[in-house]
Amino acid sequence: MRSWHCPDLPSLPGQGTIPVVWDTVTSSYVPSARPAHDDATLFVCGITPYDATHLGHAATYIAFDLLVRAWLDAGRVVRYAQCVTEVDDPLLERAASTGQDWRELAASQIELYRRDMEALSVVPPTWYRGVEEQIPAIVRAVATMEEAGQAYRVPLAAHDDGPRVGGVGAGGRGVGGVGARGVGRAGDADSARGAGCGEVGVGARGVGGEADADSARGAGCGEVGAGVGGVGCCEGDVYADLSCDPRFGEVAGFDRGVMLSLFAERGGDPDRPGKRDSLDPLLWRAARPGEPSWQSPLGPGRPGWHIECAVIVHGCCGVPVDVQGGGADLLFPHHEMSTSHMRCLAGTRGGADVVGAQVHAGLISLGGEKMSKSLGNLVLVRGLIDSGVEPAAIRLALLSEHYRADRDWSDDLLLAAQARLARWREGLGHEARGVSGGRVSGGGGPDGQVSGGAARGAGEIAAAKEESPRAYLVVERMRRALALDLDAPSALAAVDGFLGEGDTDGSSARLVVDAISALLGVSL
Ligand code: ZN
Repeated sequence: MRSWHCPDLPSLPGQGTIPVVWDTVTSSYVPSARPAHDDATLFVCGITPYDATHLGHAATYIAFDLLVRAWLDAGRVVRYAQCVTEVDDPLLERAASTGQDWRELAASQIELYRRDMEALSVVPPTWYRGVEEQIPAIVRAVATMEEAGQAYRVPLAAHDDGPRVGGVGAGGRGVGGVGARGVGRAGDADSARGAGCGEVGVGARGVGGEADADSARGAGCGEVGAGVGGVGCCEGDVYADLSCDPRFGEVAGFDRGVMLSLFAERGGDPDRPGKRDSLDPLLWRAARPGEPSWQSPLGPGRPGWHIECAVIVHGCCGVPVDVQGGGADLLFPHHEMSTSHMRCLAGTRGGADVVGAQVHAGLISLGGEKMSKSLGNLVLVRGLIDSGVEPAAIRLALLSEHYRADRDWSDDLLLAAQARLARWREGLGHEARGVSGGRVSGGGGPDGQVSGGAARGAGEIAAAKEESPRAYLVVERMRRALALDLDAPSALAAVDGFLGEGDTDGSSARLVVDAISALLGVSL
């Protein structure tokens, strides 16, 4: 799926360091990327495309944009995947309630999201992936788990109307690529379970590679689903058996009561009859009348929520992925479940870690209440821009408090950001104009790879220190602030302090303006 255009990324003298970030699992600061690697990998859960893009979304993607920018400043090649969950119950319900085609609703909201991300100067992901284009890889993953006894079937109840033969709204297209091993017979799951949960053992990066998915597409296994409606492999929904993952629960660290409560609240189905455990999550939902579905060797249906993200991580970033991120409300069940699926697909079964750091951004509230679709108190980025608010001011407002803090959006917060932007422009913009800055990269575009600017040579660093000592010190302060868990408020304070120290010359102003653009994503 097309992402969006990359903003300009000026290069700075010297080189930043790899930040430490707060890891939810260990409740400690950990390095955000592996040492002695040229790259750094990130997966961030994307939007469900309806009511895009509210300030809660913006705060999350701007937080991880700080990480991407710090990695680039440290010279890493960034490999960043983000999903878009365009096949999901809330979107389908919205489309049904408004009489809109779900694909049209999703496409319009995704386009709006792209425009908002561009306006907010968010560096695009290397891979922007939707559910629909991942279905072949997801089918392979679910089939692999089913074959290994890590997943099982739950028959549809009579009131579910039973599975339908033929895709609804998807043109009945077939999904191939599972091959001989993928179509589990009815007895497989039970026999595997009796011997303990099977090892999948596909290895790192083994599931859902893009080439695999593409080659699988069109292999035409739609016919395999002909058993639908009868007995055997393709009947019913497919659930993950969490008892196969001894490390389940460690991401959030919640007790079972909390898990059950949040599971019910956030899209889970603890009371579904026939599940082995109330918390077992859905992997593949058999087709129901009126719902979109795809033909597959699993039977016609559509993917569950968590498996999509696990498959994208494996296929795009590989495991271990350095950072998995998202809003704090994704911690449970979503990240708990998707990480469990990643472990199963990696064949590690409680062995090696599949995620280096689990990082969660705080939630945005309005008047003390969480900003959410269900409460109807969303503030949309597009609404603010259309009312004349500069995107740079929105970005500064969201950066003025730490990304992990749950925080309140208010007119005062926005006014303070607008005043700061005006102050910075007054103090730096005029002076910097006409002075050439660092090499600018960017414009990587859809599915482009963004690399860190080559660090300037020692001579250039010495020159910058000599020519603009105060400005170079500010750059170093900003880097240090961001290196400690992306502390944007301290980075903003470093710029404020620089301006408070009196007049500045053109070269110094240019260097600080470049640093604000490269590290904070704010263009003056
Ligand atoms: Zn996700």
